[in-house]
Amino acid sequence: MGYQIKKAAVLGSGVMGSGIAAHLANIGIPVLLLDIVPTKLTEQEEAKGLTLEDHSVRNKFATTALEKLVKQKPAPLASKKNLSLIEVGNFEDDLGKLKDVDWVIEVIVENLEVKKGLYEKIDAVRTEGTIITSNTSGISIEAMAEGRSEDFQKHFMGTHFFNPPRYLKLLEVIPTAKTDKDVLDFMMTFGEDRLGKGVVIAKDTPNFIANRIGTYGLLITLREMQSRGYSIGEVDSVTGTLIGRPKSATFRTLDVVGLDTFMHVAKNAYDKTEGEEQKVFELPPFMKKMIDNGWLGAKSKQGFYLKQGKEILELDTETFEYVPSKKLKTPSIEMAKQQKGLANKVKSLVYANDRTGEILWSILAPTLTYSAELNGEIADDIVAIDNAMKWGFGWRQGPFEIWDAIGVAKSVEKMKEEGIAIPAFVEEMLHKGFETFYKEEEGELFFYDGAEYKAVPVNEKAIDLKSYKKKHGVIKKNSGASLIDLGDGIALLEFHSQSNAIGLDIIQMINFAVDEVEKNFKGLVIGNQGKNFCVGANLGMILMEAQDDNIFELDYTIRSFQNAMMKIKYSRKPVVAAPFQMTLGGGAEVCLPAAHIQASMETYIGLVEVGVGLIPGGGGNVNLYTKHLKGLPNGVHVDYQYVANKVFESIAMAKVSTSGEEARENNFLNFADGISVNPDHLIYDAKHAALSLYEGGYVPPKKEKIPVTGDSGYATMLLGAEGMHLSGFISDHDLKIAKKLAFVLSGGKVPYGTLVDEQYMLDLEREAFLSLVAEPKSQQRMQHMLLKGKPLRN
Ligand code: NAD
Repeated sequence: MGYQIKKAAVLGSGVMGSGIAAHLANIGIPVLLLDIVPTKLTEQEEAKGLTLEDHSVRNKFATTALEKLVKQKPAPLASKKNLSLIEVGNFEDDLGKLKDVDWVIEVIVENLEVKKGLYEKIDAVRTEGTIITSNTSGISIEAMAEGRSEDFQKHFMGTHFFNPPRYLKLLEVIPTAKTDKDVLDFMMTFGEDRLGKGVVIAKDTPNFIANRIGTYGLLITLREMQSRGYSIGEVDSVTGTLIGRPKSATFRTLDVVGLDTFMHVAKNAYDKTEGEEQKVFELPPFMKKMIDNGWLGAKSKQGFYLKQGKEILELDTETFEYVPSKKLKTPSIEMAKQQKGLANKVKSLVYANDRTGEILWSILAPTLTYSAELNGEIADDIVAIDNAMKWGFGWRQGPFEIWDAIGVAKSVEKMKEEGIAIPAFVEEMLHKGFETFYKEEEGELFFYDGAEYKAVPVNEKAIDLKSYKKKHGVIKKNSGASLIDLGDGIALLEFHSQSNAIGLDIIQMINFAVDEVEKNFKGLVIGNQGKNFCVGANLGMILMEAQDDNIFELDYTIRSFQNAMMKIKYSRKPVVAAPFQMTLGGGAEVCLPAAHIQASMETYIGLVEVGVGLIPGGGGNVNLYTKHLKGLPNGVHVDYQYVANKVFESIAMAKVSTSGEEARENNFLNFADGISVNPDHLIYDAKHAALSLYEGGYVPPKKEKIPVTGDSGYATMLLGAEGMHLSGFISDHDLKIAKKLAFVLSGGKVPYGTLVDEQYMLDLEREAFLSLVAEPKSQQRMQHMLLKGKPLRN
């Protein structure tokens, strides 16, 4: 039977329920969001004369959850408009509506009896074939299904999202022995393709995979910190990005999660384990005391850290006072920074003979052996464990990848010296003469499964550019970019300069790529798998030329940039841009002329040049303006002024969209452009978009004259800016930039409605850019951005 999810119900509108409902709405699925009926009225409700029978009171929990969704940061909704897909209700009046949904996800309190009680009611109203899943963090899935109908049990499993559901990649799927294989397969594909998650099958064991190992690792860290006399700040300074973990490291992560939530997860593991393992899951007394004090972390404004004015204080776990935060500063940290690649950095750190080496080794060694002990028990293989830790906890390497990095044989020897028990599975592997958990052969990755090496399964949609290049090589490469043959007639232009900033090297490769694709390919994708698609033009280079008064060179650079963008626009073969994460300034300018944009759902796109004292210089002004015009229906009388104002506002205020969907609302994307929910599928989706354009008989756009608003448009655009200047909201320099921008967008000194050439507007843009670059205040802004990473408003 083919399953489909056209409508879903989320039961429970708390932290997770509301986040999951928002995520479903983000992908266009209508959701019914239900919660309990309140048992008493608030004073305000009484004052309004409301009773417990009133609808507004009965749906209060879900309604309030929706109100919070709009304000929450980071935003759970990709667009506020998605709220209209969520219908609220309650468990008493609306349970009957469950008969019309295809998937019910239960997200209520973590209590077996309460959950079972709700399942009994669902079983009575559901239509056969409806999928039911639980978001439990650790209750046995098997135990929850007990007593339910056969059809319920066939369609039941755990689907464990991580907080916040829109942003965290991991989805653990936990089947029972009775879960139908087709239903499980469907949920896995749905989880990956539609929800955009990294799906891992977990076994029905306490806290499943990521929370079992993650909680253990955190508690080991607390234990070692205390017994070895380290401070909270010291531990955080070496357990974050230095070893490939999130910036929030150990204790800031705990503050964000909340100590109460962490306590529940730890207690669940404590209750279900025994012996030495159980001892680890017992919270240290100082943490219990923090919870008693209500020092729960971010939600109570103090936890392991406390912000006092501008200063961050850390808790001294002995005296229980907040003291200035400390960091570890040891030679090994400096040495690790010199090492190339994370694996080498971690290796040099864990064996270092100083305080950094000591704490990292003492945390990592037990976490690695614990992961190996549990292999087979909590997951089928090491790949599932590594993926769960990477996707759920934001580690760049999973435990087995870390183990390979530090050398399995070498570390096992040290562990043995220290009396640490080595899991049989690891001993056996070494005994067989295998030295690593993973090995790579001809670009293909294999993992050790307990007996032999097996290929790590690859999804054809998840193209990994690094291994793809190893296997297939590149057509051409320079310092900033490479051209790769993606197969099926599509080529990929990959940026790989520092921060993927655009310089002459990338511009050269764009020209080469379009020529090559026009001759030998069906289409071109511009994409990469760096941290961000592209954060703009190479500001350092522009500033240097500007400070040296090399106006001639700058003119050449900007001209080349504009020409390369036009080459993309008028390429005879379709060019598809695949932006994701930060796509700023020049990054956005590369996308705008493409025949199609295939954006990641998490795309933060904007023309932000004003922040560095400039305006877009790679055709961004005219291309954003024409993209707006193209969205207008033919034959309708249009006031171009509205269009110009909107573009002016977007650029003058350096607006950045907070999702692919918002980018569409801001006209960086149009309705034919695509949005990929799963970031791992972006290159694949872009490739297929290029292919289908080619197969649909793609022809490049014709060069058309552009209607501009001229003198009157210039004056109108400036009206608002001058008002803001008078009221002191923007500086003299902001106003100067706004004038230049308005001049470019209005098409200069011509009457309203004049049709101008694209090249004429590009020339205006270039002149304005070059005059701004020479301004000392713009140079100050550029310098500030380069040094501090944030804009200066001077
Ligand atoms: P929460 O406290 O924010 O929300 C709990 C929800 O349960 C609320 O909607 C509440 O009204 C409802 N509820 C309370 N008593 C009820 C009852 N007697 N009957 C029915 N519903 C009742 O909790 P949460 O953090 O959203 O957790 C919900 C589920 O998700 C739990 O199973 C939890 O283990 C799991 N989970 C939580 C996280 C997390 O980080 N918070 C992560 C993954 C999974």
